[in-house]
Amino acid sequence: MDNEMNYGSDYKFIPATSIGSGISIQVLPDLLCHTIQIVNINLVGDPQTNDFVLVDAGMPNSANEIIEVTEKHFGTNSRPKALILTHGHFDHVGSIIELIEHWEVPVYAHELELPFLTGQMSYPEPDPTVEGGMVAKMSPMFPIEPIDLGRNIEKLPSDGSVPSMPGFRWIHTPGHSPGHISLFREKDRALITGDAFVTVKQDSLYKVLTQEQELNGPPRYLTTDWKTSKESVIKLAALKPTVAVTGHGLPMSGELLLESLEKLVRDFDKIAVPDYGKYIDKNLH
Ligand SMILES: [Zn+2]
Ligand SMILES: [Zn+2]
Repeated sequence: MDNEMNYGSDYKFIPATSIGSGISIQVLPDLLCHTIQIVNINLVGDPQTNDFVLVDAGMPNSANEIIEVTEKHFGTNSRPKALILTHGHFDHVGSIIELIEHWEVPVYAHELELPFLTGQMSYPEPDPTVEGGMVAKMSPMFPIEPIDLGRNIEKLPSDGSVPSMPGFRWIHTPGHSPGHISLFREKDRALITGDAFVTVKQDSLYKVLTQEQELNGPPRYLTTDWKTSKESVIKLAALKPTVAVTGHGLPMSGELLLESLEKLVRDFDKIAVPDYGKYIDKNLH
């Protein structure tokens, strides 16, 4: 493992939180969702066998909390077999370098996300002018420079399988970011969406604080391709998931999930796409 890893120079702690912060929810016997401030991480695997992976790596400065939650669930000194990234935004890779150093585990992401994770390319600037609330207004302080994981990151296998996540396959769900993926398990139709869609109106600080459940498209301030985002949501809705854990907000399941997804697909332009903002294609409306 080489140690030439670094965050971008704009890396910093972001003072935003929700009432769900610090809380773990056992969504399925082998799926634990834990909220770090405003973002979710997922531990997927059976606590009996200790074969598990971590999906996404939380906010900046949260490595200790992530290790604590992991050890509480899987035992002292337990370590995941792999880290899987839904995408590379700062709130999903915030503590990844400390975690790689502590656990010495391989990290996987989609090929198209690798430039943002190997120091080659910055994400487009968040749009603080987008229709939305406080979190959108705060977005200029969000880190966008690429982190560099050097040789510690690999691309996901092209056959759709997910390393150390038997039964799951990754699904390319771009739009929010070019190499964004979601994870789906056929057996129980469990879906980990990342930010392809979320269950909270992420641009409203009030709704982020209270985690009021409301199926929505991807967080607005960082989404640059709404047409592709819509196609990704259509792709995920077609899977008819029984439960969805999203990058932000509470897990959603059953009829509520299916009905909300149907509505999101039907009214995507109204519900998800902001009325104004710099990444809005006028032709979409
Ligand atoms: Zn994101
Ligand atoms: Zn996010």
